[in-house]
Amino acid sequence: MLDALRLTCDERGVETLTDFRVTALARSQADFEAVAADGRRIRARCALVCTGGLAAPKLGASGEGYKLLEGLGHAILPRFPAIAALRTPPEPVRGLKGIRAEGEITLLSGGGALRTEAGEMLFADAGISGIAAMQLARQVNETLRAGRSCAVRLNLMPEALSLPERAKALPKRRMEDFLNGIVPKRLGQALVKAAGIDMARPAGALTRAELERLHNLLTGWTIPVTGTQGFDQAQVTAGGASLKDFDARAMRSLRCPGLFAAGEVLDVDGDCGGFNLQWAWSSALIAAEGIEAYLTEVAP
Ligand SMILES: Cc1cc2nc3c(=O)[nH]c(=O)nc-3n(C[C@H](O)[C@H](O)[C@H](O)COP(=O)(O)OP(=O)(O)OC[C@H]3O[C@@H](n4cnc5c(N)ncnc54)[C@H](O)[C@@H]3O)c2cc1C
Repeated sequence: MLDALRLTCDERGVETLTDFRVTALARSQADFEAVAADGRRIRARCALVCTGGLAAPKLGASGEGYKLLEGLGHAILPRFPAIAALRTPPEPVRGLKGIRAEGEITLLSGGGALRTEAGEMLFADAGISGIAAMQLARQVNETLRAGRSCAVRLNLMPEALSLPERAKALPKRRMEDFLNGIVPKRLGQALVKAAGIDMARPAGALTRAELERLHNLLTGWTIPVTGTQGFDQAQVTAGGASLKDFDARAMRSLRCPGLFAAGEVLDVDGDCGGFNLQWAWSSALIAAEGIEAYLTEVAP
């Protein structure tokens, strides 16, 4: 990817400045001036802010782009992590770190289900990761920021299976191994424990009520959610520069002539699946066309 972009730029005579951390961007009557942290300056008739969001600072995210846009009259909406692992109290997931399970995860708040995702869940220290769980991070943060509590309900047995029939077929199987093959062993043991069932008992000795309790946990284990991982571990930033300040047909600022923006610095975030990269590339392409049109038609 990097080579495809870098080599095409080289071949078309684009001058590349590296280690040029823009700390100030000002507009005068005729053009823009960008000032780097080390004092270097460049002038240009147009400026494109595509500095990304706040996620993964170790990869270069700094948040400086928001300040540059704000300084040129743009509204910056509150930002919070999206696509990030969910945080839970430590107790429910204690001892499950590293366990992967397939199933459905539903975000609950205010007595209703906000969103369900199917796929892999990965248990972590005081949290749940994996694509299905991470997809819920945006709504978790939105919900908590609005002052409402939330929880996730895990369905670890999406395919119908009768536990009483299983107990009848495997009457001597000790409960510590009873759920093997349905869920990973340690997870099965955690569910048996959460159902208040003695691990050493044989399955055939369980009452119907105990089996029902276990079934309810397998299909609807509900765990409170206290937040998500922060920007250091998140993949995407929700919020950012308001789209109301841009003409989306050219990604051109409505506040400052000759200013353009693209990518994650704007108030756009998508699910897992390449949508964020797609937005970065599509908006950059539209901005490039917008800049070309601006330089030839609006301010030649
Ligand atoms: C771990 C991880 C995994 C991801 N996985 C996916 C995925 O599978 N699919 C998907 O669609 N998206 C994914 N994303 C999100 C996706 O990478 C971003 O949405 C996308 O790269 C945003 O593109 P951008 O060009 O707007 O910003 P970025 O790619 O962040 O680029 C911004 C650049 O601007 C530079 N910069 C910042 N401030 C300044 C400044 N003041 N002066 C000069 N330069 C500056 C930064 O150093 C950086 O190089 C992932 C992100 C992370 C962190």
